[in-house]
Amino acid sequence: RDPAYRITEEAVRRALSPVALPAIIDVRYGDERDERAIRAAHVFVAGRLDMGMLSAWGERLRIVHCTSAGVESYMPLDWLPPGAVLTNSSGVHAAKAGEFGLLAVLMLHQGIPAYATLQRQHRWQRSLSSTIAGRKVLLYGVGALGGAVAERLRPLGLDIVGVRRSGEPHPAVGRTIRPDRLADELADTDFLILACPLTPETKGAIGRAELAALKPGASVVNMARAAVMDYDALAGLLVERHLSGAILDVFDREPLPETSPLWDVPNLFITPHVSADDPHGYVDRCLAILAENLARQADGLPLRNVVD
Ligand code: NAD
Repeated sequence: RDPAYRITEEAVRRALSPVALPAIIDVRYGDERDERAIRAAHVFVAGRLDMGMLSAWGERLRIVHCTSAGVESYMPLDWLPPGAVLTNSSGVHAAKAGEFGLLAVLMLHQGIPAYATLQRQHRWQRSLSSTIAGRKVLLYGVGALGGAVAERLRPLGLDIVGVRRSGEPHPAVGRTIRPDRLADELADTDFLILACPLTPETKGAIGRAELAALKPGASVVNMARAAVMDYDALAGLLVERHLSGAILDVFDREPLPETSPLWDVPNLFITPHVSADDPHGYVDRCLAILAENLARQADGLPLRNVVD
């Protein structure tokens, strides 16, 4: 793993030193395998959690903090020791994801993935697009990632519709709907952007039927998780030109195997899971969430980023 994502003792001390820590606290981090240490810890923070180890040894754990936003591989939470909560690092990716989302939509609108395909074929084929204002974006998931994307897109004068489990409004989104209304929104959508977590409800939520129901010439971006969308169906609709382009950042198997047919799908742009990770200060931003939670715990306040 890139050293930028390594949780060092020094980073933990730097992040937690301003916090009024509870009297007895022991923080373990990284891929620590010391049973005695885990038994003593009240807080565990890691990039990848060893759930079996924590459930067997983490008698005193109160907070298990992971440095990712996606937590699908830790579900269900039946491994959590009694009295402990899992917190994630949702929010630390937002700024970078917002920039990527803006880039992706502008690239798709200008047909850049299609030009990349034409370039490989040594073909000069102009296809002029008009300005983007007034086009409709359907944003599936408006949390930290999706919210940041919406904020960046707003100045472009787009019609942004958000899909949220709660259906609650979001300041950067014109209108929000609940997932069960998705089908009503597809036929006039120009850009579908996925920024939701992978859960039993979102798994396969964007299947062949949903993709085929999008407006002809629409395009899609997936910054969430591959299993939310049917990539075989997407590839077919790109080949048939029902969809004009796609940008995929996430895949079932990463790295995407050399033999994957996705590499050669026309008008499909592949990025290697880089849409939201910003290595600069990454660990510090994750640990700042933990530091805030420790202060909240000491003050008897509810914790943030609790996964339920
Ligand atoms: P978040 O919890 O802040 O937001 C998730 C949003 O999805 C919320 O608006 C929620 O209402 C919505 N949602 C949940 N269930 C839904 C459903 N059934 N239908 C529609 N919307 C639903 O999470 P986040 O920090 O924005 O991250 C979202 C996901 O993005 C993560 O879980 C992770 O899988 C992925 N992610 C990808 C990268 C990357 O590099 N590509 C980086 C970070 C996170």
